[in-house]
Amino acid sequence: MSINIVNQLSHRLINLIFAIVLVLGIAVSGVVFYKGDFIAKKAVELISQQIPAYDLLRKLNNSLIEKERFLYEFYATEQQQQFERGYSETNQQAQRVFDELMVRFGDIPPLQITKTSLNELNILADEFVQNITASQTNWALARQQLRIISDVRRATSPQIQQLITLTENKVEESEHVITNGLELVRLFVVLYGLATLILAYIVAKAIKAYLSTAANNQRLSLFSTRNPNPVISLDSQNTVTYCNPATENLLKKLDLGMGNAELLLAKDIKVYQTEILDEGIADSKQFEYQIAQLYFQCDLHWLEDQRQWDMHLTDITERKKFELELQYRASHHLQTGLLNHYELEKTVTQLCKTEQKFTFGLIEIRSFSQLISGQGVTVASTVVNEVATSLDNILSSIDKAGCRIFYVGEKSFALVCTTDLNNKKIDSLVEQIDQKIAATIFHCQYQVQLDFGFANYPQHGNDYKQLHKNSLAALDKSASSGDRSQVLFNLQLGEKLYHEQQLIEDMRVAIQMAQFELYFQPQMSLSSEKVIGAEALIRWQRNGQWMSPSEFIPLAERSGLIDILGDWILHTACQKAQNLVSLGWSDLVIAVNISPLQFGRKDFLSKVTNVLKVTGLEAKNLELEVTEGVIIYNENEAIETLAQLKKLGVNLAIDDFGTGYSSLSYLRRFNIDKLKIDQSFIHDIQHQTADQSIVRTIIELGRNLELKVIAEGVEGLEQQAILASMGCDEIQGFYFSHPLPEQHFIDFLQQQIPV
Ligand code: C2E
Ligand code: MG
Ligand code: MG
Repeated sequence: MSINIVNQLSHRLINLIFAIVLVLGIAVSGVVFYKGDFIAKKAVELISQQIPAYDLLRKLNNSLIEKERFLYEFYATEQQQQFERGYSETNQQAQRVFDELMVRFGDIPPLQITKTSLNELNILADEFVQNITASQTNWALARQQLRIISDVRRATSPQIQQLITLTENKVEESEHVITNGLELVRLFVVLYGLATLILAYIVAKAIKAYLSTAANNQRLSLFSTRNPNPVISLDSQNTVTYCNPATENLLKKLDLGMGNAELLLAKDIKVYQTEILDEGIADSKQFEYQIAQLYFQCDLHWLEDQRQWDMHLTDITERKKFELELQYRASHHLQTGLLNHYELEKTVTQLCKTEQKFTFGLIEIRSFSQLISGQGVTVASTVVNEVATSLDNILSSIDKAGCRIFYVGEKSFALVCTTDLNNKKIDSLVEQIDQKIAATIFHCQYQVQLDFGFANYPQHGNDYKQLHKNSLAALDKSASSGDRSQVLFNLQLGEKLYHEQQLIEDMRVAIQMAQFELYFQPQMSLSSEKVIGAEALIRWQRNGQWMSPSEFIPLAERSGLIDILGDWILHTACQKAQNLVSLGWSDLVIAVNISPLQFGRKDFLSKVTNVLKVTGLEAKNLELEVTEGVIIYNENEAIETLAQLKKLGVNLAIDDFGTGYSSLSYLRRFNIDKLKIDQSFIHDIQHQTADQSIVRTIIELGRNLELKVIAEGVEGLEQQAILASMGCDEIQGFYFSHPLPEQHFIDFLQQQIPV
């Protein structure tokens, strides 16, 4: 619990306790006053009425007995003088007492009877005195008179006793009332005392808590003086009521002038204050803000008991700078300085959420692989950086569509234009970029050409993945057709993509259902005219229709299926090759096509080693056909892998030679055995002298580098003859044999080189 809450509680508790004590005090005083008054009245009544009455009654009784005694003494002594003195005194007293009793009790029946008795007694006493004082006293009468007097006197006793009992009852009743009243008063006083004790205990506790809070506050207030971080107190109007020495130092450092601590407040401080007061969840909030070139973390506290704000500032400039640096690194590509692909995805996803129309574009440097293989990675990366800077400058100079540029990786850039660009606007944008890039000479005199692909949100995709895919499709289409008017994605392209997607799905199923087959196309030695091996070619019947590997292999590469499919091809080809070897064709070499992607995998070498081990095939019976494209991904690693494969004893051939872009200098480092002349040079070789000279050059090159040369796509005798005359080592083509299923190939082999 925070100190403020303790304070608030203590205050409320103490106020409540005061109120309770006050109310109880008033109530108890009222009860004591009322009851005291009542008891006093009763006591006064008891003292002034009942007790004297009781006394008088006893006096009356005694006076009457005394009166009787005087009469008897007079009879016995006959001393008249002594009798008259004592008797009259007693008589007067009895009369006085009686009168007083009359006043107190009133004319009630016992007193009336007593009065009658008193009168009768007086008359009898008078008659008795006359008899005694007579000259001739009649002693017998005197004795009779005395007896009557005694009887009358005794007759007064029950009346007096009745009055005494009456008085006693009244006394008892008063006593009861007084005792009860006193009991009640005592109970109230005791309860009040107890309540006061309990409340005093609670108050003491609250005061203790308050004192410890106060001590804490005092200690904390000292902290702020010694605190090296600025501490500022504000009242509820945000007027500075206190600031510590560190605040003054900061003001000095920022040149804001001493005593101007309010200049250090965050501009939106009121927002945070309202949040604290309105939410009421916590009495503090933490936020960051900037003052001049410094960043601060502010811990804002609301002190309810003092109705003050306390601000504790911590200079987080260093941390913030580091954070900003990290943010920059996380969102930018450091070499180009452009926003990176994470930022691109984030931006596009956010824009998609706002549902505002926008255009997504991809820009790629054309023939980038050639740039790498020709100029090397360092030059290529310098060119990329220069292109990045140029694109950034061009876009800022023509930025009418609010375009932002991102670096996506390798040779690719992306554009996000916050306006939905139509065909015309896109064409004009492409033209402007094209013109400016064409006019720029890049590093090493390199001239750059770009390819473009655009997709509009939401017509061409409603998320990043779709927009990227579709603009890439548009880019591929326009790049392959060389048609700049096709840079924006359209429906036909969409359909093509859809069909490709279907094909990928079917391929996935076909892999699981083992629907692929390997065919073997024999290769012939031109010198011996014998089969020396075969190329394994994948075959797939999709819904009863043969699919061309040229159609589905690139898709398998794009969808990642090539790994699993490539493994299957290599394993099956080696298995079948081992079967042929075991059937007796021990020198036969089976060539397997390896996709550049498959070749580029880190574990490719170990896969080949393993497949040879598992199938038992000797490395010499296996040939791997790779294209020059294998060096695209990592030239040095590719050359290293080729060297390792060579070491293993595997034959290596460069497929489709002549169509790639590797310079001849690389061939020396390639560690290969064979060049496979692309069929495009063979197709019309009998008519095209240009093709003839290329083929002748390749054959000579092979001879110089001590490489075998094979020509593929040989469809006729004339082509075979030309190649033979040029010194080509081997041929492969429909003229010799079409690709054959395994069993047909075995039959073919039996005919050619029976074992
Ligand atoms: P490639 O490796 O250059 O294969 C030679 C292609 O030429 C084969 O086409 C073959 O059937 C065809 N061919 C052979 N002789 C002649 C001829 O005399 N005239 C004509 N016009 N064509 C001929 P296919 O089987 O359709 O394969 C096409 C491409 O697909 C292959 O070109 C290769 O790049 C790829 N491919 C085929 N099978 C595989 C495979 O198992 N793995 C991988 N990664 N790629 C494969
Ligand atoms: Mg091939
Ligand atoms: Mg080929």
